[in-house]
Amino acid sequence: MVVIAQGLTARRVSWAGAKAHMGNNQEAYDAECAALAHALELAAQRNRTPERVTIFSDAQAAIRRMASDEPGPGQQYAIQARKHIATLRRARPVITIEIRWCPARKGIAGNEKADERAKEAAGRPGTHRRLLQSLANVKRAISEKKWVESRQWAGGRTSKTKYRMPKSQKPDSAVAGSSKRLASRFYQIKNGHYLTGEYLNWTKNRSTPQCWWCRYRTQTRAHLFKECPEWKPQQKIL
Ligand SMILES: [Zn+2]
Repeated sequence: MVVIAQGLTARRVSWAGAKAHMGNNQEAYDAECAALAHALELAAQRNRTPERVTIFSDAQAAIRRMASDEPGPGQQYAIQARKHIATLRRARPVITIEIRWCPARKGIAGNEKADERAKEAAGRPGTHRRLLQSLANVKRAISEKKWVESRQWAGGRTSKTKYRMPKSQKPDSAVAGSSKRLASRFYQIKNGHYLTGEYLNWTKNRSTPQCWWCRYRTQTRAHLFKECPEWKPQQKIL
């Protein structure tokens, strides 16, 4: 964050910077918004109100935030910024105030100094005045907690101990490797819910359990697989 304030009489262009640790309940976004507001504050506090204030920042989101004082993350800084702009305008009605986006703080005098000061401030917590937890910080905390919880929930449901199939339930690899249609026939035959005469008679879809191939009195699974003359060749293969 670099502020350039240009005085009317001195024609002297100067840059200014300030550092502050904001505590651990704020986001980078808050720091960027706070820096913009603070830059305007510095300009407003000058003994001689400059004719032009240009603030360079690489934080696009924070710059956009300053354009409106709608509720949401960073609102307090947008309100502060407006207050300082009003002070500057009162002191010099024709003042030009600009907040410019400057990618990665390149090509502006004082950049290295700004980075130095940011590092100094970051390494020295405790010197800051206590700030309320910021809305941006609350939002991130909620989102992080939500993801941790959903991961735990998903992890709890798919843990190996819960989802391990008992050996007796392990699917027959030959069946598991076949087509769904074939596999479903296999399991229907296996558990007796297959369209045999006996089953169809039991479900009242046929009046008799008789075999419709050989007229044997009860067409059971065993009959079809072992006795029915209609399926002799297949029975031999089995
Ligand atoms: Zn038969």
